[in-house]
Amino acid sequence: MPRHPADLHVWSVPLRTRFRGLTVRDGVLLRGPAGWAEFSPFWDYDATESAAWWRAAREAADVRWPAPLRSRIPVNVTVPAVDPETAHRIVLASGGCRTAKVKVAEPGQSVADEIARLEAVRDALGPGGAIRIDANAAWDVDTAVARLVALDRAAGGLEYAEQPVPGVDGLAALRRRTHVPIAADESIRRADDPLAVARAHAADVVVLKVQPLGGVRACLDLAERIGLPVVVSSALESSVGLAAGVALAAALPELPYACGLATAQLLSADVVTDPFLPVDGALDVRRPEPDPALLAAAAADDDLTARWVDRVAAVEARA
Ligand SMILES: [Mg+2]
Repeated sequence: MPRHPADLHVWSVPLRTRFRGLTVRDGVLLRGPAGWAEFSPFWDYDATESAAWWRAAREAADVRWPAPLRSRIPVNVTVPAVDPETAHRIVLASGGCRTAKVKVAEPGQSVADEIARLEAVRDALGPGGAIRIDANAAWDVDTAVARLVALDRAAGGLEYAEQPVPGVDGLAALRRRTHVPIAADESIRRADDPLAVARAHAADVVVLKVQPLGGVRACLDLAERIGLPVVVSSALESSVGLAAGVALAAALPELPYACGLATAQLLSADVVTDPFLPVDGALDVRRPEPDPALLAAAAADDDLTARWVDRVAAVEARA
């Protein structure tokens, strides 16, 4: 166990574009007998909610991940709530991604902004690409019903809409009123009962994230019990943390959709020499190790390091 702060490598890297309200991403890397691991709960997660993130890190450090069933993982490019020209450029620079996930429902933006962004993404992808949106639970059901009509038209067809409204009941109600498939994200990873989505027929797809759900094995078990198609997505990790999501995507029996694991593109720097960047729209299944020089370049200052050491102590005290 990393009892000594010297065993914890705290990193901090600016994002290329403001995302999820963040301009910087930070976390801890640690090394165990099975390899390098990442612990990077967002700062609005307390020690109780961070416990699952810690279990995922311990699994990565201490236990081998399940054997992969495939060697390449198709991924989506993520388009933040940017202007149309930037959205177009992000898709063209994505490393051949044929699926785009577009952020919508950004505070201060209008439906016209979203329509323009989706039209730009469709133009960049061409007719054969797939477009999904993520509203991060920002709409109510009536707003979502109307918004999905407009955005489905602007996108030339949506693959699915991720968590348009909060709550399992909201998703279920919305799903009865739209033909756009519904994906559950927050209703899985921040819910007391992640199986409620399946019982309520509230989604067509579920988004699973390794850290908030407690590790690769926990996600495989959950996927089996939910019985719906899975999209593996990141929590904006460094490439050390992304490797766990890649391992999950590689071990799932079925992988019908592109995964949300190409988020290394959102970071301005990484801790490995060969980050998880897509080639021909897919990531290779592998487990990169941190490069000492890049780790040093991304090292957090003393204050941030001390805060992460405290966070690890708090979750360890609970474990
Ligand atoms: Mg989401």
